[in-house]
Amino acid sequence: MSEIVDSWVERLKGKIEPIGSMSHWERMAAAFERKPVDLIPVAPELDYWQITYAGYGHDETFNDVDKTTDSCLKTWADLRTDAIWIYVDIGHQLDSMVPPEERDKYFQVRGKKDYVLFHPLTNSLDEAIALFEDKVYTRYMDSSRAASHFTPHILQLLEFQEKMDRTVPVIVGCATPSNHAEAVVGVENFVKWLITEDKAKMKHYMDLVTEERLGALDFYNEFFINNGAEFFCMWGGARTWGPRQLDEFGYADRAFVDKACKLFKYPFMHHCGKNLPQAMEIIADMPCKAVQYDEPYYSMDQDWRKWCETAAKWFEGKKCAMNAPTTQKACFAKPDEIKRMVNDFLEATVPYTSAVVMPGCEIDSYAPVENVKAMIDAAREFNV
Ligand SMILES: [Zn+2]
Repeated sequence: MSEIVDSWVERLKGKIEPIGSMSHWERMAAAFERKPVDLIPVAPELDYWQITYAGYGHDETFNDVDKTTDSCLKTWADLRTDAIWIYVDIGHQLDSMVPPEERDKYFQVRGKKDYVLFHPLTNSLDEAIALFEDKVYTRYMDSSRAASHFTPHILQLLEFQEKMDRTVPVIVGCATPSNHAEAVVGVENFVKWLITEDKAKMKHYMDLVTEERLGALDFYNEFFINNGAEFFCMWGGARTWGPRQLDEFGYADRAFVDKACKLFKYPFMHHCGKNLPQAMEIIADMPCKAVQYDEPYYSMDQDWRKWCETAAKWFEGKKCAMNAPTTQKACFAKPDEIKRMVNDFLEATVPYTSAVVMPGCEIDSYAPVENVKAMIDAAREFNV
């Protein structure tokens, strides 16, 4: 039982106007199933942005579960997006691998609106392998923010989801093996080692990370799915990998996606940044129901609308497409341009498959409120 959740349920339940003829949950579920919707669902990944929007700073919420949950619920109450995103930061993902007394060295909470800064946990592949072979994450889990902040925060949001009678879904998320393998050692190290290190040793590292990630899914099953979670974001890495690396090490994410898709009802892949066509085609054949993607790869000579159409054709008959505007534009463009990009995405996508308005990555905490409102308005105004 959480007082913060109850106070929001008290304020909102039975007191807010419905939007459209479907509930937020029904609208998202229909899009995932590629069925008709009353309005195009809109669910930008608000993450850190919610903290800022609600008037808190990260220094205040970093160790405060109630204020973190309060941020997400206040944001949802004001904007009425079709899903509520959890708050998550890199500390949640990595600090169970660091002894408590050393965490200050690795994680730094900077300004109120700034991302938590972190340093790679190791600088050599042997050390990275040792971290996983020793299963250090089991040793330090109890004292980690994953245990003291991330899990109770998600349980509060799921409590809200249930108390609101599942009218609005909460999106729970987890890093895939490729993302986690890169985060632990730093993307630069990882990409260098893909070329310089012994293949069998790299595969051993990926296997260890995959084992840990598959174990994390068991935890998600016990604590989150059993408390009502159905929508699941898989934050992928591998954004700088070439086709050969995808062939060699793509198996790790595939194993994760296969397991997650057996557990969660509405799983989707998050693939942000410049998207390599090969990576998009691999994801199009994975068993998840939707793909949150971003911009075309550098060498692709396609404008925004053409790119959205290309992706929609990859996903036709297979996946719901989630995008628009790009992550960059969400932060830096003017509202008019954002509305135009959302419209172009929708017009290029809906002839082929279903769509959700959701930029390819999280909304920057410096993104103007008008920009977030512009994407919501554009989705609500689109003629389905
Ligand atoms: Zn991302």
